[in-house]
Amino acid sequence: MSDKIALSTWPTPLERVPRLAAALGLGEDDLWIKRDDLIGLGGGGNKVRKLEWTVGAALAAGADTLVTTGAAQSNHARLTAAAGARLGLDVVLVFPGTPDSAVNGSGNLVLDGLFGARVFWAGDSDPSTMADVTDEVCRRLRHDGARPFAIPFGGSSPLGARGYVDGGAELLSQLPDVEHVVVALGSGGTMAGLIGALGERRVLGVHCGAVAEPAVTVADLTTALTGRDIAPGSLRIRTDQVGAGYGVLHEPVLAAMRTAALTEGLVLDPVYSGRAMAGLIAAVRDGDIRPAQRSVLLHTGGLPGLFGHTETVHRTVDSLRSYGSERTPPHTSA
Ligand SMILES: *Cc1c(COP(=O)(O)O)cnc(C)c1O
Repeated sequence: MSDKIALSTWPTPLERVPRLAAALGLGEDDLWIKRDDLIGLGGGGNKVRKLEWTVGAALAAGADTLVTTGAAQSNHARLTAAAGARLGLDVVLVFPGTPDSAVNGSGNLVLDGLFGARVFWAGDSDPSTMADVTDEVCRRLRHDGARPFAIPFGGSSPLGARGYVDGGAELLSQLPDVEHVVVALGSGGTMAGLIGALGERRVLGVHCGAVAEPAVTVADLTTALTGRDIAPGSLRIRTDQVGAGYGVLHEPVLAAMRTAALTEGLVLDPVYSGRAMAGLIAAVRDGDIRPAQRSVLLHTGGLPGLFGHTETVHRTVDSLRSYGSERTPPHTSA
């Protein structure tokens, strides 16, 4: 029996993007976008599909408080906060940094606040110790009489990854002859789930720099999920879009974000979906993805994060073009 719960309305749209396809040198019917950014909870994004399973397990366990961790601009944390609000559960988010980090906070932190989540600031903890800090927070909550349930970083347990077995099956019913699904690889659960539905050959992951060993991370999750022994070397993963590291704006990603915005009015984010798009562009350039093959970019969301990354905001505003404002307004000329 599954404890999965419903947190949105399915399926999400699958859209053809002919102008974007043409800009990449593909045919008009070659490229499609799976719009998981339009998932109808908390601003949307891929983490909702995983939360349908992990929060389902929390409810089945009798929890009254969800606890999770990530970077301060974590989309997963924001959507956990939204799921908690919808279900009447308390939410505690464990972030590196201090309360000062919130003062200058924007993007996802604004929404975490609106959804009523509380933040445990872990100071300058090493990312590798955040799971231990989360355990400690759960101990304190239990001591205070709460019934906490910890959801891992990114929601990427084998259970959470089942959300993308669902997502992959949904996509197959919309586009049975899909040949490539391009997806940002963060904590790995989304790619693992897609492989569970579509197999290793059709899923191309674009590493975003969030984990040290992306192929091992995804292979371990996929093995636990499917019960098949998946070798890291059998996975299609690009590591050429990390640039200076996770969360640091990388020029090809800004170029990819501009191309998607200018051709389709489509917004990508600088950390994940923009990197996936940049990886897709690179894959077309080097022949891994070719014209006349059906390709899908999974749009995993992340729009609030765009406004939480000041470099992206500044670089975009700096390039804002002016029309005519250097001249005298027409109605005042003689
Ligand atoms: C978390 C996230 C990803 C990556 O998904 P994982 O399952 O963590 O690999 C991609 N895009 C966005 C917008 C995300 O928030």
